[in-house]
Amino acid sequence: MDSLDSVAETVLRRRYLRRDENGNVVETPAGMFRRVAETLAQAEGRFDGDVEATGRTFYEAMTALEFLPNSPTLMNAGTELEQLAACFVLPVEDSLESIFTALKQAALVHQSGGGTGFSFSNLRPEGDVVKKTGGVASGPVSFMRIFDAATEQIKQGGRRRGANMGVLDASHPDVEMFVTAKEGTGAFRNFNLSVATDAMFWEAYDAGEPYDLVNPRTDEVVGQADPDDVLDLAAETAWETGDPGLLFLDTINEHNPTPQLGRLEATNPCGEVPLLPYEACVLGSINLARHTDGEAVDWDKLRETVHMGVRFLDNAIVLSDFPVSEIEEMMTATRKLGLGVMGFHDMLVDLRIPYYSREAVEFAGELMSFIHDESWAASRQLADERGPFPAWEDSTRAEPMRNATTTTIAPTGTISLIAGCSASIEPIYNVAYTKQVMGGLEIVNDRFVDLAKERGFYAEELMAELHDRTSIQNVEEIPDDVKQLFHTAHDVPADGHLRVQAAFQEHVDNAVSKTVNLPRSASVEDVKDVFLTAREFGVKGITVFRSGARSEQVLGETPLQ
Ligand code: UDP
Repeated sequence: MDSLDSVAETVLRRRYLRRDENGNVVETPAGMFRRVAETLAQAEGRFDGDVEATGRTFYEAMTALEFLPNSPTLMNAGTELEQLAACFVLPVEDSLESIFTALKQAALVHQSGGGTGFSFSNLRPEGDVVKKTGGVASGPVSFMRIFDAATEQIKQGGRRRGANMGVLDASHPDVEMFVTAKEGTGAFRNFNLSVATDAMFWEAYDAGEPYDLVNPRTDEVVGQADPDDVLDLAAETAWETGDPGLLFLDTINEHNPTPQLGRLEATNPCGEVPLLPYEACVLGSINLARHTDGEAVDWDKLRETVHMGVRFLDNAIVLSDFPVSEIEEMMTATRKLGLGVMGFHDMLVDLRIPYYSREAVEFAGELMSFIHDESWAASRQLADERGPFPAWEDSTRAEPMRNATTTTIAPTGTISLIAGCSASIEPIYNVAYTKQVMGGLEIVNDRFVDLAKERGFYAEELMAELHDRTSIQNVEEIPDDVKQLFHTAHDVPADGHLRVQAAFQEHVDNAVSKTVNLPRSASVEDVKDVFLTAREFGVKGITVFRSGARSEQVLGETPLQ
């Protein structure tokens, strides 16, 4: 296999490679990829496919770092814990029974490496009656604390902490409490939060009128809220903590491929997959940095990788074990895949397109439209071979497909470190820095180093000077055209982030995980502006992160290993 850089080696040794009962690593990176490839190829045997040839193709794609599945697949394939999906949504109904069932199911999902999302909108509000006991209800935010505490204790098999998405509808009487839940320090460190908004909310906002707050237990209107106040409050808390974000439920449901099975009301932790209760999704990402010839996109190779990726992920669904039988049932009914990309910024550098440019936004659309069309073609082909997803007939998909969805843009937080590329569709963080995870990882942008050498301005001293800077825009030695190619997350203004998100979203079945970065000096009003622009751009959800807003993010470190 291609040699891995030292960051990839460290990440794999610490988190992914198999260990014996004494905790000693007993697998090489090549061995890990072989285990995953051979396991995933087994599914071919159930459909008269070629197990060996497919295994080789999967192995080659992974060892060449052209494609990687989500972390649970790398960790669990071919092991006792054959749970291969990263994303789940679990239902929470308005009863103690349901709340604690969801809590148990979440624990099992976290233990297997998955992240969970919940809509808490069905829970009766704080202070409402509890008939059985004559008591007073504690409300969604209070119950969410239990989920948060439980998550803290389950460290995903010692490899990473579980992650949650909590969603509450803007019409819930406790919406204010929910919106401000992260205010102050340390609360809900294992949760991302999203306020679900729909046409009713936005019509009231446009008319400058209040909207109704409804008790979900009785369907009675119990009060009113001013949508502008709710947005102000959300912007204020997001300015301070990074949460909540917003979900645009109407846009999400307009694209629900299986409305006959229910309405989409929640997403997985990072927001990239809206799912029905008990649905799951297996993710995989194409490393775009490995799909250029250094100057132009290698479209043929990209097509091949897309087709391989769809087959790989469908095989993962065939083989995956799920810790809860209801998940197994839903997963096999819709067979949702989340094929996405990483290394987008690296690809732009090869194409000499600045990240913050009209050209980049146009290219993003062209690229994702290609990937989307090819992934649908691949899924249709699989439907011929293996049959369509069982819920296909009443779905919105005109032709038989094997999968209700094929595409998603995941954050690729860890797998991009293994692949040595820029994360997801994000701009780079810096050209050289220490990433504060796993004891400190030294990340250096190879493309920057190569260009610096090529253009004759490379020097050790320069690299030392650039280390940990969040921008290279004021560094004199670097030519302007090179500076433009290495815009960092901090250099790109909010509208640049949003335009890229929207360009990808247009061609993605599920959703796009994207952080809109704002500088530390940004105001609450700036955050609110991003919320409003996101609505205008028609994205499915929005998360804003102001530099320095919170010291700890949800998908953080486990202190183990
Ligand atoms: N996830 C999780 N815990 C983590 C990181 C990720 O449960 O510590 C889940 C979560 O659902 C997230 C999804 O995995 O939305 C994909 O995250 P990412 O692409 O960063 O994962 P990777 O495959 O790179 O580890």
